[in-house]
Amino acid sequence: MEGDKSLTVGWYSAGVSSAVALKLVLPDVDVLIYQHMYDQHPDTERFMRDCEEWYGRVILTEVCPGGSVETVCRKARYISGPGGAACTGRLKVKPRLDWEKGKWAGTKLRYIWGFDAGESYREGRIRETIPNAEHVFPLIERGLTKANAHWMLQEAGLRRPAMYDEGFPNNNCLGCIKAGMGYWNLIRERYPKVFAARSRMERDIGASCVNGVYLDELDPDRGRIPTPIEPVRTPMCDQAMSEPPWGDFCPVLNL
Ligand code: SF4
Repeated sequence: MEGDKSLTVGWYSAGVSSAVALKLVLPDVDVLIYQHMYDQHPDTERFMRDCEEWYGRVILTEVCPGGSVETVCRKARYISGPGGAACTGRLKVKPRLDWEKGKWAGTKLRYIWGFDAGESYREGRIRETIPNAEHVFPLIERGLTKANAHWMLQEAGLRRPAMYDEGFPNNNCLGCIKAGMGYWNLIRERYPKVFAARSRMERDIGASCVNGVYLDELDPDRGRIPTPIEPVRTPMCDQAMSEPPWGDFCPVLNL
């Protein structure tokens, strides 16, 4: 009967936090979905395959129909502002809304998110903006920080996505238009072509990614250059890792 259907979706972002969060609640997840971004770092594919092996599950890849970040910004003649970033709405939110109104219509939805304990402020916003679904935040519920998630992933024997080792705080799009000055100076150093392309885009649109400063005028000394996240172990990590979904739990032998 319509309305009785339910679906638990694990939103896999290809970052360390979401990878660990989903592992913690894996038996409850009906489907793992990754919204592929054209601007992802090439190592993302390798990390996703490693996670699939770790989970023993397939991660469904949904290709965002809007194209690249640059494509949507140029089309919208807008980069980001109080209404959010052009890319988030068009490449992530809209496809999800289309599924909710289309193939998921009449389904009771439960979403699993990878936000960590340092991002608990985002929990309320998610509940507010997506009131039609129940929301689960495995890392926040267990008091696990981003650094804890890195330790747990390392302990599980997985290599984190390359962007983290390069100093970036997330495995987000290369050239994330919502990032700050330090991030952009690191992009300039590591990925000069991406930096040049975003700089051109800013001038063509007439708006900047970083508030009030065009990238081609950004002082290379401005902002705090991020450094690689150091994995940190706390008792909360041990507690979370003692939960059955984490280890090679065998329901038959109860080992
Ligand atoms: S990670 Fe950054 S650039 Fe990519 S979609 Fe999100 S806001 Fe846009």
